[in-house]
Amino acid sequence: MELWQQLLRQSISSVDQVVEKFGIKKEVAERLDDFFQARVNPYYLGLIRYPGDPIWLQCVPHEVELEDLDAPEDPLHEDDMSPVPNITHRYPDRVLFLTTSQCGLYCRFCTRKRKVGDSSKINMKELESAFQYLEQHTEVSDIILSGGDPLMLTDAMLEKILKRLRTIPHIQVIRLGTKMPCVLPQRITQDLCDMIKKYHPIYVNTHFNHPWEITEESKKACGMLADAGCPVGNQTVLLKGVNDDPDVMKDLMKGLLAMRVRPYYIYQADLTKGANHFRTPIDVGLEIMDKLRGHISGLAVPQFVIDAPGGGGKIPLLPEYVLARDKERIILRNFRNEVYEYPDIQEEHPVLKNGKSIEARPLKKKQKKISLPVLDA
Ligand SMILES: *Cc1c(COP(=O)(O)O)cnc(C)c1O
Ligand code: SF4
Repeated sequence: MELWQQLLRQSISSVDQVVEKFGIKKEVAERLDDFFQARVNPYYLGLIRYPGDPIWLQCVPHEVELEDLDAPEDPLHEDDMSPVPNITHRYPDRVLFLTTSQCGLYCRFCTRKRKVGDSSKINMKELESAFQYLEQHTEVSDIILSGGDPLMLTDAMLEKILKRLRTIPHIQVIRLGTKMPCVLPQRITQDLCDMIKKYHPIYVNTHFNHPWEITEESKKACGMLADAGCPVGNQTVLLKGVNDDPDVMKDLMKGLLAMRVRPYYIYQADLTKGANHFRTPIDVGLEIMDKLRGHISGLAVPQFVIDAPGGGGKIPLLPEYVLARDKERIILRNFRNEVYEYPDIQEEHPVLKNGKSIEARPLKKKQKKISLPVLDA
């Protein structure tokens, strides 16, 4: 057995272990276990510095999860948009492909709790219909392997999937959505990297939420993936009490970039059953973005998105940089809240033929620090 598999076996997962290790009442631990099982592997456990810290909050079950059980189980309508088992097809040219229900750690805020940890929900026997769907849909050029975590598969099983996908000529990009570099970096072995690089272009999107997750082990794992030729990106979920702070996010984004991981998205937390206590006001995310853009390397600035409830997909949000706009000009503010004007061009452009240009915006009263220029002088 490989080291990562041994570590997984030593995870805290049973009710008794949760009671003993985290001091949760047995009756509560049982109800939590029914709702969404625990799995805290010893590597990630070792990152906890004190009870209730940002690492703890992400992985230790808590009674508040039981308070909003009528919230949606599938807020993003991934199952409604699933033409065949294990596939969600929401966007024109790319598809989400769930390959396993298992993860190296179970995140308490997970938006896919309804499936994660339950191998009957993501069944390996049903991969064939997914492959056939992908073969038939020639418009699909980008596959996102997710789950669960595709790196919970053995190298041999993952290779089977990659090999099969590479027989489909219209598939250009394969992405691995994996939290392993963060939660169980021992999974990134040289053998795995040697296998993956036979199937390029493979992109890896990983998932770090806090600077304390950046360790010697995780740096090594991300470096190995980058050395194997995988561009590595990161998705962060904005979580109350974990990373809802501009300085924490700044450290995280800079730390990621320094280990060759390119910040890709910050997600507004989804409206998931049992996880609403992690949600933050939208303005918190916008404030964080405001403190990132211009202040740190643009390479370290991700996009802040809301995954629209009901399956609308990811919608980017930006702090208000456009103070005013009319046909002649746009009035902007920069990261230092200094105001600039850019003259627009009046001529017709073929892209705008169908009259889709954006309406001028009214002035915002909120920008208190700035004295606004009057538009129609
Ligand atoms: C996030 C997501 C994708 C990928 O979106 P990108 O913006 O290209 O990263 C594809 N399909 C589904 C269902 C998704 O949720
Ligand atoms: S690794 Fe991803 S899929 Fe697995 S529990 Fe965490 S958030 Fe959910």
